Amino acid sequence: MKRVGVIGGGQLALMMGAAANKLGVELIVQTPECNDPAVGIASDTVLAAVNDAQATTELATKCDVITFENEFVDIEALSQIASQGVCFRPRIEALSPLLDKYDQRCFLRDLGIPVPKFILPESLFAVSSVNQSIYTKKSEHSEWELSFPSVLKARRHGYDGQGTFIIKNLTDLETKICLNSNFLLEEFIPFQKELSIIAARSASGEISPFVVVETQQEQQICRRVIAPADISPQTEKTIQDIACTVLNSLQVVGIFAIELFLTDGDKVLVNEIAPRTHNSGHFSIDACFTSQFEQHLRAVCDLPLGNVAMKNPCAIMVNLLGYETRTTNYIDKRSTLAKIPGAYLHWYGKSESRPGRKLGHITVLLNELNRDEAMTIARNIESVWYSQ
Ligand code: ADP
Repeated sequence: MKRVGVIGGGQLALMMGAAANKLGVELIVQTPECNDPAVGIASDTVLAAVNDAQATTELATKCDVITFENEFVDIEALSQIASQGVCFRPRIEALSPLLDKYDQRCFLRDLGIPVPKFILPESLFAVSSVNQSIYTKKSEHSEWELSFPSVLKARRHGYDGQGTFIIKNLTDLETKICLNSNFLLEEFIPFQKELSIIAARSASGEISPFVVVETQQEQQICRRVIAPADISPQTEKTIQDIACTVLNSLQVVGIFAIELFLTDGDKVLVNEIAPRTHNSGHFSIDACFTSQFEQHLRAVCDLPLGNVAMKNPCAIMVNLLGYETRTTNYIDKRSTLAKIPGAYLHWYGKSESRPGRKLGHITVLLNELNRDEAMTIARNIESVWYSQ
């Protein structure tokens, strides 16, 4: 398979470009705007929204296999296209249980994988049509006694914490639920750390997990990733086992990311599965023998999976997030950051900066596993990047 169609043309597709070149694979990208990050590396482009299935039919005529950098697709329409013989990797059935956060929680629970306790708000509450306030319904079937803080999440199309709300009290909850009913409500996990694992599965069923990493979120957006995470071998094994269970049960071909909470008692709970390459795997471009993007293309193109070991004992990846609304390419800040010893700067070529928008990232390789040093480097990068 030499021609890979990619649904989505953001930075994840852009970063597949170098890997595609190395492997002699062509990328044909379906993305809405001609200035989207991946248009420049694509050998051909279908200019259309990611959920435009008609456009995906056209994409299919230009490639041997279709993969995803964005999962906000029209899954029913893609199922139809797949039934006509178009090859999607991962297959559509592997995405279906994951696109809605409630369905995803049910899927993981049914596999016996620990997740936060969760419920649909409508099974606990009813919205009063008279004064638009909620009242508690006594739910005998609820496994979970509502307590605060709790977490309310939009069931679909949430990303970078948009659609995720930490709810402090009933009034907060009432306000949010009255605005939109399509939510999942779950217990707040007072985690010790957030972790993530990226793993690939080949068509023959071989699974190759990258090291488990620590992710650090602020206001629900990933700010930094430390690889590897400082966790016990037992926790690492538990997480790898979860990855194998998920990937095998869905017969995934390609990369999936699994985000997790580690609690004080060293209990692991899955927060979320992303059915694609992921921000928490960006360190692998510079820190591993095979990047997540190369591994994904290897799996999708039926090439042997690569070696995912790290080249250095430790790496820190810092996201360069927009902090203002402006049209600029931040050339001065980028040249200052690029001079940091051991630093690899990646810029996504977005001309518009907006608060929270992922504009680039920087990975620094360390010669020893030292979390404090990694955090000092991250703070230094952030003090340059976020300075006015
Ligand atoms: P998104 O899909 O938009 O990335 P997530 O569901 O992953 O949203 O949540 C984003 C962040 O919000 C998480 O990384 C975590 O920091 C926080 N968060 C989400 N769910 C919970 C929870 N149940 N308990 C505690 N924090 C949570």
